[in-house]
Amino acid sequence: MREQNFLSKRPLLYLLATPIGNLEDASPRFIKTLNEVDLVACEDTRVTGKLLSYFSIKKPLISLREHNEVSASEHIVKEILEGKKVAYVSDAGYPCISDPGAKLVEIALKNQINVTCIPGPNAALSALIASGLDCSHFYFHGFLSAKDKERKEELIDLSHREETLIFYEAPHRIKKTLLDMLDVLGNRKACIARELTKLHEEYIRATLSEMVELDEESLKGEMVIVVEGTYDELSPSIDDDELIKMVNSYQQSGLSTKDAIKKVSELTSINKNYIYKIYHLN
Ligand code: SAM
Repeated sequence: MREQNFLSKRPLLYLLATPIGNLEDASPRFIKTLNEVDLVACEDTRVTGKLLSYFSIKKPLISLREHNEVSASEHIVKEILEGKKVAYVSDAGYPCISDPGAKLVEIALKNQINVTCIPGPNAALSALIASGLDCSHFYFHGFLSAKDKERKEELIDLSHREETLIFYEAPHRIKKTLLDMLDVLGNRKACIARELTKLHEEYIRATLSEMVELDEESLKGEMVIVVEGTYDELSPSIDDDELIKMVNSYQQSGLSTKDAIKKVSELTSINKNYIYKIYHLN
């Protein structure tokens, strides 16, 4: 089904990116759209209330958060179908990016409502482009698991990716996450982009081994971690079966499983945690 958003008679849902710290990042189109809608659906009505009052905009607010995403989305879709012009904003940056909104988009589209985005600030892309790391290909992961074992497993799965990796992280977990990254990904170049667009904005460009030495007290606020991808040239030509065969053959020659995995890792430059994982899955 093809239909142009602004030339169609179909109803339209507006997804708006909100400032990630500096309110002056709100565009004229962002302000114009908020002035024109009948209803603003948002993650937290207090946060959005403050944002709107900064721009002297008064609109009815309705909350759509993770815990009520489906029921609130259905309600909002009903309002749009009844003729209301509705915008959705999350607390900061793009809705749907480590924030609610995806369910609303899905339900709106199912109900023949067009969806548009009023572009603006986003923490991940802002961090990436100023990080100094390769921007040609990147992988956005968002938040790693808060659980130690799951976080390590997620990193092991990512250790093979050649694209630059982008993570969101909270200050109380930053030290643990950096230590796990160093352990699993090896000593790669990285960038912590902290407090973007705010007075204390800082880009820390260093290796992971330098980053784990940083004083935790100095790593406060909101932050994005950008890590370079693996540049291992051998890995694409060695598949998992081949790696397992190599481990088996070192074992047969007398090495323990641990030493055989270490040897294969040294030989292929493939992360030992990754080899350990595929070896034990088979
Ligand atoms: N939807 C947002 C976006 O488009 O960027 C992300 C929301 S997510 C719940 C919040 C996380 O984004 C924070 O924990 C932090 O990792 C990152 N973040 C948000 N604002 C930031 C800022 N001003 N500076 C650095 N990171 C920020």
